[in-house]
Amino acid sequence: MARYTGAVCRICRREGQKLFLKGERCYGGKCAFSRRSYAPGQHGQGRKKSSEYGLQLRAKQKARRYYGVLEKQFSHYFDLATKIKEGKTGENLLGILESRLDNVIYRLGWANSRAEARQLVVHRHFRVNGIRVNIPSFLVRTGDIISIDEKSQSKAKIKSILEANASHPKPKWLEVNNDKFEAKKIAFPAREDIDLEVEETLIVELYSK
Ligand code: SF4
Repeated sequence: MARYTGAVCRICRREGQKLFLKGERCYGGKCAFSRRSYAPGQHGQGRKKSSEYGLQLRAKQKARRYYGVLEKQFSHYFDLATKIKEGKTGENLLGILESRLDNVIYRLGWANSRAEARQLVVHRHFRVNGIRVNIPSFLVRTGDIISIDEKSQSKAKIKSILEANASHPKPKWLEVNNDKFEAKKIAFPAREDIDLEVEETLIVELYSK
């Protein structure tokens, strides 16, 4: 599948905030956004004022890039969000994005970044309800059990990731059982559980045009 392959840190600079796309590096002094917190390119430090459409577009791009999702798939998630009868469409959209298997793996601290989570999922390290799943966009439902494959639990790479992220806080909608290398999705992610700084109503306005 086509995927953005350019310099990842440019995305954070373009969106004007840290999107934590590179794992460990994002927390240290090498973070490109911490050093140059303006948009990349010749006019990066120039005009800041945006039109209404510009703001809506930036909000959508920010959310899309945060979760590493392509345009078509993002608009598919928006369609899904509009079909949910309860709650607000923008919040439901974020809840759906959070429920992607690659994001769930990242939130559990079983990968250092969403990009790494995608790679580990493709390499078949995880199961959902006992069945091996190698599709990063797989949507985890409430009640599903996500686990690390038995053979993968002892792999050096997985062990070092788990060790490094052991103290990272886990979201309330995931119940983790470290001894069993598994977790259960116990609720649909609520807006207050999602740390992405974005005005999701702007995304709804954009798609409602
Ligand atoms: Fe963004 Fe991480 Fe790069 Fe910093 S290091 S600019 S947070 S991807």
